[in-house]
Amino acid sequence: MKKYINQQDMKQANAADVFGLIRARGQVTRKQLEQWTNLSWGAVSNITARLIQSGYIVETKPEKIEGAGAGRTPSYLAVNEAEHFCIGLDINSSGLQAVVVNLQNKIVKTLSKPADFRRKDILLSDIYKLTDAIVQTAGGHHILGIGIAMQGQVDALNGVSVSLPHCKDWAQVPLGSLVSERFGLPVLVEHDPNCILYAQSAGTKTENVILLRVDNGIGMAVMLEGSIFDRPGMFELGHICAVPNGAPCSCGKKGCLEAYASQEGMARRYGKPFDRLAAAAKNGESKAVLLFEDMAAQLAAAICNASTLLHIKNIVLCGDMWRYQDLFYDKFLHCVQAISGDNPPSFSVTDVENAAFGAALIAVERSVKHIRVGKDDNK
Ligand SMILES: [Zn+2]
Repeated sequence: MKKYINQQDMKQANAADVFGLIRARGQVTRKQLEQWTNLSWGAVSNITARLIQSGYIVETKPEKIEGAGAGRTPSYLAVNEAEHFCIGLDINSSGLQAVVVNLQNKIVKTLSKPADFRRKDILLSDIYKLTDAIVQTAGGHHILGIGIAMQGQVDALNGVSVSLPHCKDWAQVPLGSLVSERFGLPVLVEHDPNCILYAQSAGTKTENVILLRVDNGIGMAVMLEGSIFDRPGMFELGHICAVPNGAPCSCGKKGCLEAYASQEGMARRYGKPFDRLAAAAKNGESKAVLLFEDMAAQLAAAICNASTLLHIKNIVLCGDMWRYQDLFYDKFLHCVQAISGDNPPSFSVTDVENAAFGAALIAVERSVKHIRVGKDDNK
């Protein structure tokens, strides 16, 4: 812990603050920055000059207005959208996604790759390949950091992927430091539903919400009073007991919700891949229809229980399962109604592509707090 703050620290803190204001406001003048920050005109000029030199902001002159007076027109400062970026990755057994996001939170590139979760070394190699490919697309531009949205249990504080039920030999993998060492960049690792929720709630006034991702697994994230609430292993709704001593789950236990309501669990019960099960249910095959009805009832009960426990009515749903909602959604809502009576939760559906985006947004927020503008001050 530092005992004092020196002049250089002050300069970095001010640069981050000034840059934060320009990001939040869009276009600003130096005069406005002087008023909003209580910094001197000299300090504002110095910091903005350094931000321009480092490629974080650009200066724009408004077009000359016909008939305007001879007074000096102030130039505007805005975020340079073409110079610095963060990368977001989503590691999910349904597929790997990567995005490049600029410092105005806009996606400028996306890539995807099928996921191979058979073994740890194969999966790690796939993650490195995708990261390599997305880093290449950013060319010579500056990448400030990487955010990884990770399925399974995550220790976000230490950047560790604790477990991944779909990959048998994956345990306590220090993914953050592995990727950081390989690419020489700061890397953060977050539980994927948290990243989707982060992207979903960015720029909104959302305060309390539960998000559920349902595909090959079941992930859950919770926002309480505006903050995403998490601890490693918390909110593993997919591995609560749905049926005591019931169907086997990928985690090794029996009767978990995932064994009944995830695509992988349903396929295991059916004995054929999930797309075959969905096709059979569409054709009215009774065994397949029953599995979807079972899924709808189990998922409705689990979501209503979570809603009651946390006293949150606002539920956001996402994941590949919602592409098949014509096979179960009516039954699901019917079950929700039967469980919660006159005061049922409300549902909306969002896009899982937001996992990579949300991870990149978290990386952007962390990076801009620590931007540096000039090494010469250290001499
Ligand atoms: Zn389980």
